[in-house]
Amino acid sequence: MYNKKTIEDISVAGKKVLVRCDFNVPLDGDNNITDETRINAALPTVQYLLNNGAAVILCSHLGRPKGEFNMKYSLAPVAKRLSEKLGFEVKLAADVIGESAKALAAEVKAGEAILLENVRFHAEEEKNVPEFAKELASLADIFVNDAFGTAHRAHASTEGVTHYLPSVAGYLIGKELDVMGKALTAPVRPFVAILGGAKVKDKIGVITNLLEKVDALVIGGGMSYTFAKAMGGEIGNSLLDEERIEFAKEIMATAAAKGVKLLLPVDNVIGDDFNNDCNQQIVKSGEIPAGWEGLDIGPETAKLFGDVIRTAKTVVWNGPMGVCEMPNFAKGTIEVAKALVESNSISIIGGGDSAAAIEQLGFGDKVTHISTGGGASLEFLEGKVLPGVAALEDK
Ligand code: AMP
Repeated sequence: MYNKKTIEDISVAGKKVLVRCDFNVPLDGDNNITDETRINAALPTVQYLLNNGAAVILCSHLGRPKGEFNMKYSLAPVAKRLSEKLGFEVKLAADVIGESAKALAAEVKAGEAILLENVRFHAEEEKNVPEFAKELASLADIFVNDAFGTAHRAHASTEGVTHYLPSVAGYLIGKELDVMGKALTAPVRPFVAILGGAKVKDKIGVITNLLEKVDALVIGGGMSYTFAKAMGGEIGNSLLDEERIEFAKEIMATAAAKGVKLLLPVDNVIGDDFNNDCNQQIVKSGEIPAGWEGLDIGPETAKLFGDVIRTAKTVVWNGPMGVCEMPNFAKGTIEVAKALVESNSISIIGGGDSAAAIEQLGFGDKVTHISTGGGASLEFLEGKVLPGVAALEDK
């Protein structure tokens, strides 16, 4: 699966290269980019292509414009920021496969780059309509996919175009696959996975797949209460996934049979309401009184988890340990982040809230890899094939 051709395996000089990037950046009310991580992450591939004589045609989605042109989701702010970063004007086409796109794509020269408008201005993008993909492909000679964040979706600009052009991976996709692929296939041990977040349902695939590979599995966050319930505990108003109680029991039995250390919370910070300023107390797990709900792991649990995480040589982390958006219930997530950094392990953060926690603490440069794709990294960790990657040419 990781044996895909990259931009370094083909000749791009004198070619028009269509690059699918993930420029799905957050914007404020005035269309200012509030976090340019994704633009920066795309630059190595763009720079390589420019330096090697390609004429670059960039494309991406932004937000959810529902298949219609909508100025709110225009890539204009991205074109502006790219121009500043690359040091020349990156012209923005007024459309994706229309007259403007065709004219700019015909004009763009080696060492130059243009940007097409938001591919999701066409409903055909997410429906992966072949005619649309073919039109898009007709603008270029080669396709490069570097949008890891959408690689788990078979859309026209991620999968459809590969039917019409020689298609290879960019550096970002290459790096994501390399780091996560190595962790899954040949981890330096001990290998510890930390899973949290709200729902058991969303993490079933990851839990099942990682249980086959890790030495220890740490489970916290909202989903841990279903496990507490499965052990016969009282969980008050905490999050519960009734339908997954049996699954939780199976996981505990499988872990025991495999000799995988399964760590669950032993204490919790609970609140009498779902808000930051509610009354709170610390109780043993499985002893949450009626009218109260678990909102974070407790201090004993943070220590227990931290001790195991600090011994790890490879760590994969997806999902917070509590309601980390509320400062009073973010402590457990912060303690886990600190232990992870102290472990000096190969550390992989699977996007979303855990990535935000690491960045907020200023630990961004102290971990090996923060995935740029929450959903895509989750599917990768589930062991699923990502259609946007599978469609690329093999080495
Ligand atoms: P996920 O997207 O599944 O990783 O879940 C992240 C969300 O889980 C965050 O918004 C957290 O606030 C939420 N979460 C974590 N722990 C709890 C909890 N104990 N109760 C309610 N929500 C939680």
